[in-house]
Amino acid sequence: MKQKEILLNSLLKENTLSLSDLTAEEVGNEHLFTSIETPMKKDAFELSNEEKIKKIEFHFAEIMETLGLDLTDDSLKGTPHRVAKMYVKEIFSGLDPANKPKVALFENKYQYNQMLVEKDITFYSNCEHHFVPIFGKAHVAYISSGKVIGLSKLNRVVQYFSKRPQVQERLTIQIAKELQKILNTEDVAVIIDAKHLCVSSRGVQDHNSATVSSFYGGKFQDDITKQEFLKYVEMKTNY
Ligand SMILES: [Zn+2]
Repeated sequence: MKQKEILLNSLLKENTLSLSDLTAEEVGNEHLFTSIETPMKKDAFELSNEEKIKKIEFHFAEIMETLGLDLTDDSLKGTPHRVAKMYVKEIFSGLDPANKPKVALFENKYQYNQMLVEKDITFYSNCEHHFVPIFGKAHVAYISSGKVIGLSKLNRVVQYFSKRPQVQERLTIQIAKELQKILNTEDVAVIIDAKHLCVSSRGVQDHNSATVSSFYGGKFQDDITKQEFLKYVEMKTNY
């Protein structure tokens, strides 16, 4: 399998990239992005979820009609509503900060200075340039400062940021930054290994390529620590 690997730490130093000289096609095909925060409008939450669903339903029906589909057909007529509900309540629910997982830390002195790894977290996201799926595995690690969080919470943080229109690099950084904040430590690493349907099913139609992006914070920038994390990620499990 071909892999494109992107290391993200240096991107953080220049918070904003300038893409304004590029065309929409160039930005989309290269999957460039402008900021670590998901670009949101100021009035993003003025409409209620129900109002958003109604509005998206109306516009999605327009798209389908424009494509020439017959919305009186029994199989198609519910699609605009289904898509609208799925966008707001499921696959883009991570746009709403109200859905951010609440994470409690607990004391565990025995795990002080230990690396805690949660690997093979399956996630489903969507490319913000084409609105088609990005899916794969996330591997997350941190070094405990004596406080730990439940492993399922690491999973929830990954899911929350996945449920947005995304760019893989931004997803990686958003997960890492959130974990650094929650865990109150720089010592966080995130690797995302993903397939992009916009690459494998359209455009260049490269069925076998995968994209790997990684973020190494704090002690994970030391080679020994990084290698230890990579060893766990590569380790075959016997179950
Ligand atoms: Zn795309």
